[in-house]
Order: sequence, then C-alpha cells, then structure tokens
Amino acid sequence: MSENLIGIDIGGTKLAVVLAKRTGEVLRKRRAPTRAELGPESVLQTLFALVQELMQGVQWRDIAAFGVSCGGPLDSDSGVIYSPPNLPGWDAIPLKQRVEEAFGRPAWVENDANAGALAEWKFGAGRGLKNVIYMTMGTGIGGGLVLDGQLYRGTNDLAGELGHQTLLVDGPECGCGKRGCLESLCSGPAIARRAGAALEGGHRSSLEDDVSGDPSRITAEAVFSAARRGDRLCREIVDETGEYLGWGIGNVLNIINPELVAIGTIAVHGWDLLEPPTRASLRRHAWPRALEAAQVLPSQLGDSIGDLAAIAIALAHLR
Ligand SMILES: [Zn+2]
Repeated sequence: MSENLIGIDIGGTKLAVVLAKRTGEVLRKRRAPTRAELGPESVLQTLFALVQELMQGVQWRDIAAFGVSCGGPLDSDSGVIYSPPNLPGWDAIPLKQRVEEAFGRPAWVENDANAGALAEWKFGAGRGLKNVIYMTMGTGIGGGLVLDGQLYRGTNDLAGELGHQTLLVDGPECGCGKRGCLESLCSGPAIARRAGAALEGGHRSSLEDDVSGDPSRITAEAVFSAARRGDRLCREIVDETGEYLGWGIGNVLNIINPELVAIGTIAVHGWDLLEPPTRASLRRHAWPRALEAAQVLPSQLGDSIGDLAAIAIALAHLR
C-alpha cells in the first residue's frame, strides 16, 4: 500500500503543496504565489510545476492519492469549481479531473472549511470523536461539519455556512448580500470595521497612533494587540466580538449538539482575550446540556491546519 499522500491547498494569494505520510507527518512542502489574476490555466501550470518539484527524488508508486482544498462553491462529487470569490474566472473548472490527468493518481476536492473539519477530526482535537465542527474565523467565517463520523456536506455542498446565520436583523451588510450575519460582525474585516467606526464616532484609542490616523489601515490583528496592552476601546471591541461569537456558536450547539467546536485563525491567535467573553456569551445562548457536552477551543492544529486539511481529504476518501 502506498503510504504517502499529496495535499494541494489553493488559496486566493498562495498555492501550497505538501507531501505527507498517512499519519499526517509532513515530509516536504512547497509554496508559490497564486497570481489568480492570470487566470485558471496559468495557476494550474504553476501548481503542476510545484508538484513536480515536490516529487523530485520520490517515486510516484509511493503516492496513493491527492487531496485538494479550495474555496467554494464547488461540487465535491465531480470535483468541479464554480467561481470562488477569491479565484476570479474559475468558472466550471474540472479540478479533480485535471489533477488526475496530470499525475495519474486519484484526487478529491473539498472546500477549505470542510477540509479543515476533516483535519481537526483526523489530526487535531477531534481525534476519536464522532461529532466535530470546525469554524474558520479569518477573512470570512465558514464551517465544516463531521457528524456521526462522516463529513456532512448537505444536499448540494452548502452545509456548514455557520457565518451566515443572522444575529442582528438590521446589522451591517454581509458579503453574502444579507444583513447582520455572524460573519459581518466577527470576521477579521468586520472587527476592523467596528473599530474604525468607533474611532470615527469620536472614541479615543491608542489604535489611532498604530495606524497613523488612517482607519483603512486598521486590521483585526492591530485591534487585538492594542487590546492586549490594555487599550480600553479595543478591549470593548474584542469583548463584543466574543459576545457575538458565543451567540453564534451557542446556536450551533443547540442545533447540532457536537462534542467539539474548533475555531480557526483569529481564535488561534487571540483566544487569551476572546475566551472569557465568548464563554460568558455561550452560557447565555447555549442550552446547559448542549454546552456541557461540547468543548469549544481554538484549532489545535493552529496555522498548520492548511497543510493537513488537504491531506485529510485524501485520507477520508481512502479509508
Ligand atoms: Zn452573510
């Protein structure tokens, strides 16, 4: 049995390819900028060259399969990509077929949130559990659901859109076209926007100096580091973020009753500040027995989840 797998992670800004054992041990890794503006053919050529480079000195017979993680929407059965917002021009690209034709190995494609859920379940805090939810928290908020020991995709690959539950009826506009979604309140850009609006409303904060008075330079990272050194406004913004986050996760606990909710990027880097308000909010919004049954944690794979996510896709299909 071929022991090794190749994972491909296609992001809006970078491409990553990883050679790993089935245990999740990463053997080699290569990266390149995506340069999505050059269109899908050019990106695929760069990607295939990266895989060739990764394979130098490695026998193809040692490779069992490919897992490919990519922004949705996509059809996971056919492996066709349908215009993800971060990959302009990728309309109806048969990604699975292209990878299989190029390398003669089976390939499976999943959206990045589903892939993250598989990684947390196979290699992270979700090992050995049956009901695991992974929530992305970065540029957007997405989710992947492993239920009863299987990835749950829904009827047409739309399950797990945790970021688009409405929390505030007249809240901020969301990228999806609705208002007041969890994503429009707690994503990185949403956190930055709430801080910027508070400054424009006349609130004082040391954040102003950090961005040289230019609100367009505020990032969620800057808000968290100002909060960490005690800036009062930024503490309030982070507390409010935890309040919304706990509310959104509380809804998920009440509906799905999982054993674990693992949260990505922003929670990985800011859990020290985010945990107290999130827990307080969870106690208000989740039913006690649902809360008792669930661990709510930052992703235990941290920033390496991207590498393992694509590997976990291949693994999930091979077993
Ligand atoms: Zn939305």
